Amino acid sequence: MLLTITYTGQNTQNLGYLLYKNPARPQVFELNHGKAYVFYPEVSNERTTAALMIDIDPIDLARGKAGETGGGLFDYVNDRPYVSSSFMSTAISKVFGTAMSGRADAHQALSDSPLDLTAVITMLPCRGEQEKLRSVFEPLGYEVCYDTSISDEKFLDWGISRYVNLTLKGKVRLRDLLKHIYVLIPVFDRQKHYWVGTDEVEKLLRHGEEWLPEHPERAYITGRYLNRRKSLVNLAFERLAASNAVDDELLAEESVEKPEKKPSLNTQRLGRVVAALKAIDVKSVIDLGCGEGNLLRLLMKERQFTKIAGMDVSHIALRRASDKLKLECANEHILERIQLFQGSLTYRDARLSGYDAACVVEVIEHLDIPRLAAFERALFEFAKPPVILVTTPNKEYNVNYDFLYGEALRHGDHRFEWTRTEFRDWAVKIGSRFGYALQFSEIGEIDEKYGAPTQMGVFTACV
Ligand code: SAH
Repeated sequence: MLLTITYTGQNTQNLGYLLYKNPARPQVFELNHGKAYVFYPEVSNERTTAALMIDIDPIDLARGKAGETGGGLFDYVNDRPYVSSSFMSTAISKVFGTAMSGRADAHQALSDSPLDLTAVITMLPCRGEQEKLRSVFEPLGYEVCYDTSISDEKFLDWGISRYVNLTLKGKVRLRDLLKHIYVLIPVFDRQKHYWVGTDEVEKLLRHGEEWLPEHPERAYITGRYLNRRKSLVNLAFERLAASNAVDDELLAEESVEKPEKKPSLNTQRLGRVVAALKAIDVKSVIDLGCGEGNLLRLLMKERQFTKIAGMDVSHIALRRASDKLKLECANEHILERIQLFQGSLTYRDARLSGYDAACVVEVIEHLDIPRLAAFERALFEFAKPPVILVTTPNKEYNVNYDFLYGEALRHGDHRFEWTRTEFRDWAVKIGSRFGYALQFSEIGEIDEKYGAPTQMGVFTACV
């Protein structure tokens, strides 16, 4: 992802002083999930361009940073390394924080003056909202132009790309341009990499203080910046209404971004599964399709669970699980408490019996539809644990993933994904056939219209 800022006029090399970045010296900055580079593709008296390029490490994003255990921020393949997203905003505040604050020491007069500036934001996610680019940026004094392209020449039915290259041209102070971009990129990009909490209200008010209260699209900007979280949006509106309430201390503070980590969907999901198990009196648990053992690791931390097992069809996954759980060098006591074994959920298997609860977390969608009936009987009829927890993606939520086109599924190995109704219909049918009562819940950030990304059904055997 790339942002360029071009200053035209006279002595434009002074852009380097305003940004606190020397045009003669390219620089690199470490970000939480990659690196930011600052360099100047052109420098002259009449025209100087500074570029901020961000190189996100896609492996870090998917798996979490080396040595960290919490898992990644985004599931599976995604567009994050390639598009202008909340990562760009975080980098702007980290790399150009002083310029954003308006401090320019010997060049204060220049910093306080409107300059002829042009910003180009490449690959801004902007799904079906291109007309909003004008209504959001024009009132701030910019000429707006953007170019779009077709998504893929080989798949014309995918239509026009959801990403635009946006050019903003105006006579504005540099600090205002940076603040506008900082706030407005995450307005158009829906998938923020940080948790949207009350801190974000403060940031919005701090960076929007001079322009947001009067902006004709303030409701749209506030709603989208805060991910439409009602309580936060209301809080921001109250503060905007009493506009001079933005406190002086906050304004004086240098704009340094605190790294905030949003719990990944995977972390939230596993947390909810453990919480559901803890809420009932189960002592022994089997994790079916345990993968690399992330749930098993959490279960091991809870003394309530005295007997734990993990089963998976994949040898490789089981070896990774064994490594993660350090079973090679575990003592007898641990080895008595947990075991891993290979098996398939679509075959009747005596080793699956005898547990108080079974978890099937993000597994059913990996089964071929014609094999589902065999899975249902193997688990609900033969193993028949008193409690069964099943989670699976909610397909409706996929509209929120900009990188998924048409009917695409979240993972290459998924054989299907269900809407909320499809999952409920299936679960209710299974429950009544095999004698289980049901409770449903949603996991992850809830979209008012499309629900949450993950759905969970807790089956409890009727006695
Ligand atoms: N439950 C884990 C892994 C989910 S990925 C988690 O939430 O992190 C799906 C897992 O299901 C993979 O590890 C895959 O090997 C396993 N799997 C797929 N088909 C299976 C089958 N028929 N029997 C058992 N495991 C299966």
